[in-house]
Amino acid sequence: MNKFETLADIGTTEQIGRIKRLNVGIVVKVEDASFLHIGGSPTPLTDKKAPIFMIGDQPAIPASSFKGAFRNKVEAYLIEHQDEIKTIFRVEDAKCLMPCIPASKPTAAEKSFLTNKAVYREKNCEVKVDENTIKFPNSGICPVCYLFGANGIMGFLRIPNFLPITKGLSKLEQTQIGIDRKTGTARHGAIVRGDQVLPGTKFVGKLEILLNDGNFEFGVPRKIGENNKQVLDTWLNNTEIEDLNEIQIKIIDNLILRPLKELDRLGGQKSKGAGKVKITVGAPP
Ligand SMILES: [Zn+2]
Repeated sequence: MNKFETLADIGTTEQIGRIKRLNVGIVVKVEDASFLHIGGSPTPLTDKKAPIFMIGDQPAIPASSFKGAFRNKVEAYLIEHQDEIKTIFRVEDAKCLMPCIPASKPTAAEKSFLTNKAVYREKNCEVKVDENTIKFPNSGICPVCYLFGANGIMGFLRIPNFLPITKGLSKLEQTQIGIDRKTGTARHGAIVRGDQVLPGTKFVGKLEILLNDGNFEFGVPRKIGENNKQVLDTWLNNTEIEDLNEIQIKIIDNLILRPLKELDRLGGQKSKGAGKVKITVGAPP
């Protein structure tokens, strides 16, 4: 069951040549009693990327930081709701729905998943073209890479940077003093500067869902190779006979908007209460 009847209930469509896209407005609000770290490059010691960077004198949420957190949510949602999604898209082999692990630095938690074959695929999705053959996994490209892209193939989702819409002060310059846990006093030389985005700050951005990327239509399994015999998106095999608009709405609702609403953290340093956000889908207030 979908909440939406038409794509117009979700966003606004835009056509540029052969490319057609659906723009969905998003507001990210920094939760009360939380904050977002502002940073440039990750520090060599922690390798943690700050969820915010500065454009001129304005803090912004970089697309890469939002995309990374969102991708993790879609993976988790797909794993948690596999049976339900299997029914919705009438998928026969559940393996087609299993997400792969993104190639970039798996965390310790992801590494432990790697050994659990029932949860994640063993290999990352990749499309390789050698001479006359096109190679990709037997189970096809996973639904997460269908949206976010994989090595050798683009996804259908584009996310630009998020910019602040809150008027007035949104940034706080803070000096943090590292406390030695043994002595309870300030550690020698442990003064760390860290600017933060204040609670209540709102950022506005959007999801661009490519309904047609110039080559392929969103919701139709992509076919490539000689005589278009090779199907990349096997998880969409059985929905081809259904109304395309309905399939598109099903994908957007179940694999994009529902996980998006569960996204409540950006960036690291969870123990300090940082990074709590609330996502609202729709036009900004
Ligand atoms: Zn994948």
